[in-house]
Amino acid sequence: MSKEQQSTVLSYNNLLLKVKMLAEVLTNVGACIYTKDLNGHYTYVNQAVLDLLNVTTAEIVGFDDTHFFDLALSQQLRENDQKVMKEAITVKSEEKNFIRSLKETRIYQTVKKPLFDDNNNVIGMCGISTDITEEKKLQKIVKSQEKLLHTVLDNVDAYIYMKDNERTFKYVNSKVAELFGTTPENMIGKKDIEVLPFDVAEHFYHSDQKVFDTGIKLTIEETSEDEQGNLLHYISTKIPYQQQGELPALIGFSTDVSELFTLKEQFKKQANTDSLTELYNRRYFIKHAEREFHRAKRHLRILSLISIDIDHFKSINDNYGHPVGDKVLISVAQCLLPCVRQEDILARMGGEEFSILLPETTLQSAKVVAERIRLNQRNLTINGQWQQAIKITVSIGVTCITFEDDTFDDFFTRADKALYQAKDNGRDQVFCL
Ligand code: GH3
Ligand code: MG
Ligand code: MG
Repeated sequence: MSKEQQSTVLSYNNLLLKVKMLAEVLTNVGACIYTKDLNGHYTYVNQAVLDLLNVTTAEIVGFDDTHFFDLALSQQLRENDQKVMKEAITVKSEEKNFIRSLKETRIYQTVKKPLFDDNNNVIGMCGISTDITEEKKLQKIVKSQEKLLHTVLDNVDAYIYMKDNERTFKYVNSKVAELFGTTPENMIGKKDIEVLPFDVAEHFYHSDQKVFDTGIKLTIEETSEDEQGNLLHYISTKIPYQQQGELPALIGFSTDVSELFTLKEQFKKQANTDSLTELYNRRYFIKHAEREFHRAKRHLRILSLISIDIDHFKSINDNYGHPVGDKVLISVAQCLLPCVRQEDILARMGGEEFSILLPETTLQSAKVVAERIRLNQRNLTINGQWQQAIKITVSIGVTCITFEDDTFDDFFTRADKALYQAKDNGRDQVFCL
């Protein structure tokens, strides 16, 4: 063989190798690859097409799509083919094809290109179609789940948000956006300090940081002001949350408990307050006086107690009626208030009886206070729709904590005894015991 002949054989072998490699690639590629002539007859199909349509090469080459697809249900296929060959353009689209062999519709991402001869005339087309039916199904599921999730999140009566550790909102539901007078689109992707008032952002971030630092769920009470300046209270649960490849984040659920908070405060106040005089009631007095008593004993502090009872109060009710008696009780309470210090506890114990607990006060000092009270009450005149002003007097018992007082009751009973003594001695007086 001449050198020239040898080189031709070598080139031929190389070409054969390349063609074999190409055929191997076309056979094993996941997509359907095919060529058609101007009449729509297949001129080449790869293994994926044969497998899909369950035919041999001989059964498809030379035949058109009427044999393999239900063209009534695969209208797009024919339209795209015609467009490619008539207009000599590339068409990329999603095609829905009804495959006869499978008896089902499948969706393809398809690229179809015209094929030209040496004179640039269109002689057919080639196509690559990738089956995306499963992706489409998944996309549909994800979309419907996303819709469901958004419907739930936007209608639940809570503020729900996701924020990363660089303070960027990854998600807010519409309730959060409404609270700050904006839309979720305007908040998502922005940092809290860009979209919230500085103080509010800082306040929220303070507890956010705790979650980032500890990595554990946190439930706390938070506050913020609305546009009218009203203080709003929230119960917030913040949960650490991290997605792969993303910054550490948290998901927050905040429920507006302002109404409940106000009610709770009202109930607390009501539970501790005498409704007629608005002084503390017996319940509050005993609870706090007992605590003070034990504190005083433990730290050897001085503590005094004053018990006050209106003299002959029954006769006021008898002469003027019960509603006037109530007015007198209110006036007596008002007259007592300026006689006590911030740290003293003044309460209506019931009926026409009042008590004052005086921390850090000696018996002598408490007696001075009691005398002032007695005189103030004596000088009190209660005017109203009755003929002459009502005048009252009070009897007062005073006592001071001693080493012998084992229980609060010992201490409290002695003040009562002193009060009885003041009554016994003729009323309108102070008795110390
Ligand atoms: P003393 O000087 O011995 O204390 O005589 P008093 O009449 O004040 O004492 P007594 O315990 O006999 O009567 C107390 C009266 O206080 C009887 C009761 O009807 C009246 N009272 C108790 N609670 C109220 C109230 O909430 N409103 C009015 N108007 N009267 C009340
Ligand atoms: Mg009484
Ligand atoms: Mg009385």
